[in-house]
Amino acid sequence: MKLQRGFLSALLVCFYASDTHAHSFNADGTHAGEPPSREAAPQQPNDVLQGLIDSAKVWEVEEDLTLCFMDGAIDTQEFFLQVVKDWENAAPGLTIDGTVNGAPRNCADEVTELRISFNQEGNWSYVGTDAEKIPAKEATLNIGTLTGPLTNRLRKRTRGSILHEFGHALGLKHEHQHPDSNCEAQLDWPTVYSAFEAFEVPWNKQKVDANIRPIIAKEIELTPYDRSSVMHYALPAKWFLQKTQATCYVEKANILSDGDKAIAAERYPATLEEQKEYFDRLIGNAATVAGSDKFNRKDRELFVEEFNAALPQSIINVSGNVSMSQSGGINVQGNVTDSAIIENFNGGALNLNGGAVSAND
Ligand SMILES: [Zn+2]
Repeated sequence: MKLQRGFLSALLVCFYASDTHAHSFNADGTHAGEPPSREAAPQQPNDVLQGLIDSAKVWEVEEDLTLCFMDGAIDTQEFFLQVVKDWENAAPGLTIDGTVNGAPRNCADEVTELRISFNQEGNWSYVGTDAEKIPAKEATLNIGTLTGPLTNRLRKRTRGSILHEFGHALGLKHEHQHPDSNCEAQLDWPTVYSAFEAFEVPWNKQKVDANIRPIIAKEIELTPYDRSSVMHYALPAKWFLQKTQATCYVEKANILSDGDKAIAAERYPATLEEQKEYFDRLIGNAATVAGSDKFNRKDRELFVEEFNAALPQSIINVSGNVSMSQSGGINVQGNVTDSAIIENFNGGALNLNGGAVSAND
């Protein structure tokens, strides 16, 4: 059904970029892996909506986010919990509950919202609340590179991967896909495609695009591009036209950047009230773009349809609701408090009516 198209679970699969990113993926023996039964992120009707929906996949604050382990040694599980504590410390409204009586929780005893495995291929995670749509017997996040004795070296190598995948589990997107990253222009695409094609579990073009090309919803982005984010891929220099000179060429991050901490705090503020306000702003931004000249009437219709189909299923009960006027404008019922948006609306082809926003053709 058409309406469902925009609301399929997005699984972000992250290959393991080695800590010495100058090595090729083949050379260190690691590669992208994805369970064959899962699909890559679907194409969306427009980037605005995709950006909005992905951003809305956060967990509701004021309740603990629970996780259990499907497998793995106790010290590995404890290491995982210790690392993800960094996210918890950065986000006032986030409480991660992964233990029972002080010991890591076993999924065999209790099935929880997030289910962690170390046994499958690759490093991957479902995005935010998409995890709720996954059968209880299946993992929602996998760190395939954290196997064997937990040496200091292994801890060092996998810390960034855990933070990255858990960032997805919190609803965060790839930082290199930020519209201001300029990674797309800097990459040598034929090289990139053939490198992914050569993986043991190859990625097709569509999947590479979905994980690397920008998510173009520039106007709804609220945070600046952050090249030191743990959500940024550390791609090999030889994949870039300018090699090590490319600004998108980065060291693999092993700690949260200031930008990561800021975005965690923004998405997971102390109260539900603040969390809703944040999403009202996002909705206002998205409506601004959807109502702008870059979309024709058909695009707007699709936006309205998909928006209203998707948002009620979000864990956030946002106050936003979108409709289309006879003239083809987009109306948002909701509280838009962000002054920059209000300014845009009043200066452009949009009107504000008592806090509600409407867009004219
Ligand atoms: Zn990723």
